[in-house]
Amino acid sequence: MTKDPIDPESTPTFHPAPEEVLECARSIRPELEELLGSEAEQVDRNLAELLAQANKGQQVDDRILDLLKQDEATYYWMAEFLSQPQESRGLQPPPGIPETSSAKKYICPIKNDCTWYRRSIEIPVRTCPTCNVLLVPANEG
Ligand SMILES: [Zn+2]
Repeated sequence: MTKDPIDPESTPTFHPAPEEVLECARSIRPELEELLGSEAEQVDRNLAELLAQANKGQQVDDRILDLLKQDEATYYWMAEFLSQPQESRGLQPPPGIPETSSAKKYICPIKNDCTWYRRSIEIPVRTCPTCNVLLVPANEG
């Protein structure tokens, strides 16, 4: 058992696979500004750093969980994301996006360190905050 900074009785417990945690980290990055406001930049920088370490083969899922647990907004987003059945991942948009929308999944083509769901064709495609390139549609997988 690990010690949680948030009361475990009031929150769901989960034991996600490392890859799930990494996907959660990539997917929450475009949402941080809305979730955290002025703190978003700092958290995004930390997530980018951890994802870069993951790309080098280091195990960082615990540190990502710790980071996202520090704020209630990111904690609940993460909890909802990780509670979605894995099979529907990619077909179903992450929390905050209506299921009825035909949100399309986009990923960073350079390092795969950012995942974003385009809610509408009218929304301009985002750039990866780390690599500064346009995200590309994730068709495969
Ligand atoms: Zn990137």
